[in-house]
Amino acid sequence: MEPLEQELRTITPDLKNITRLFGLPDSVWDPPRFSYTMTEDADALQCVFTDGRDSTALRAPLPPLTGDERLDALHRRRTARRLCRQTLYALCRDVTGIHPPWGSLTGIRPTRLLYELLEQGLSLSEAPSVLIRKFDLTAEKAHLLQEAVSVQRTLPPPGDAWADVYIGIPFCRTRCTYCSFSSGAVGDGKLLAPYLEALFAELADGAALLRETGRKLRALYIGGGTPTALDEPMFRSLLERTAKLFPGAAEYTVEAGRPDTITRDKLQAARDHGFLRISINPQSMVDRTLQVIGRAHTAAQVEEAYALARQVGFHHINMDVIAGLPGESLDDFAVTMAAAKRLRPESLTVHTLAIKHASQLHLDQFPLPPAEEAARMTRMGQETAHSMGMQAYYLYRQKYMAGNQENVGYALPGHACLYNVDIMEENTHILAFGAGGISKRIYPEEGHIGRSPNVSNIEQYIARHEEMARRKRALFLGEGAEA
Ligand code: SF4
Repeated sequence: MEPLEQELRTITPDLKNITRLFGLPDSVWDPPRFSYTMTEDADALQCVFTDGRDSTALRAPLPPLTGDERLDALHRRRTARRLCRQTLYALCRDVTGIHPPWGSLTGIRPTRLLYELLEQGLSLSEAPSVLIRKFDLTAEKAHLLQEAVSVQRTLPPPGDAWADVYIGIPFCRTRCTYCSFSSGAVGDGKLLAPYLEALFAELADGAALLRETGRKLRALYIGGGTPTALDEPMFRSLLERTAKLFPGAAEYTVEAGRPDTITRDKLQAARDHGFLRISINPQSMVDRTLQVIGRAHTAAQVEEAYALARQVGFHHINMDVIAGLPGESLDDFAVTMAAAKRLRPESLTVHTLAIKHASQLHLDQFPLPPAEEAARMTRMGQETAHSMGMQAYYLYRQKYMAGNQENVGYALPGHACLYNVDIMEENTHILAFGAGGISKRIYPEEGHIGRSPNVSNIEQYIARHEEMARRKRALFLGEGAEA
């Protein structure tokens, strides 16, 4: 096996994630303010982290040997990395006195750790206390995880026999200031028709590929961007072709994100072609905030869009909101939550603002709420969802989230979105189409995921869509062009 120093040579990004939990700037690593040593004896690893005169030491038992040298090296490396992160975390917690809500967890999918404990034989009621003890999670977050996993266990189980389909429409009427997606403005609309032409060709090839792999379609999701930014004939033809090419899914979703892009005809098209789950997303129901974040609609338009969708006959509408938007107080967030109660979506996704492009957010005039306020907002989101009879069913975290919180999807019983769970838990194959889509092939035995990303630039996608289709074939069948 390699010496421990070598095995830990790529750990600095992980350590930066830990110091960010405590609000420390990345400059503490340049030059490093902390130093550490990792040693190994017969049955354990020991890590000591030092910050000036403060230091913390932790030990972790070495994992039992399996006899497979490659696997043993992997287990040892994972143990060393985890111990390294936990020791730095313990030191920072001692020095700053801060208790981050997710403890020492910095990964995107905290549910994974809970699933690991279940695989080790713990029950769902035992696992949260282990997470609290081992990773210093707050009880609130450990129980949120427990709630989400308990709902996920009621869903049709994923497996190698199934695949999901994702279709991306990377256009929006205007760009939200917090957006980190690779969507383009509709602009003069010149790219829409060639984009759809390329997409339809990729979809036709993908439908054949799905048949050739012998896998069954589980869930299909059209996202973006804003799919309803397409005009009525284009939107209808997208849904019509998609439904014909990919029949038989247990769930069809189309995002109708911006209420100002929704028309009766588009809603009717969604229903006509079996897209019975839609998403109408206010993000905030405060007009001032909607202006600040660059959404070209009002709260009143959200109410109208919900009324129209109900008239057309939708029984599953998801609502996305964001906690921690610039300039918002807890009272503003309460306005959004009151609207959620009034509009009664069947599922409610409470995101926490994650800032990648702070410059566009006018933070000097509209500052972000402090960490405690962001925590109160996510708590209010949870209370609102519970009061409406919903339960958390999936959650994930991102870097740079306000107050180190999380994004949580809540749903009424029987309304959890399979696709959202699958994409987060990474336990189902995904065939993704359109600019920026990332197809994933799951290798459950090896615990490995193969990926085939489509180019995200729209012009490039139009020019190279055949290559994207070949890449997907290479991923799923090992044939065609370069992977
Ligand atoms: S609607 Fe979504 S994809 Fe479009 S600009 Fe806003 S955040 Fe980005």
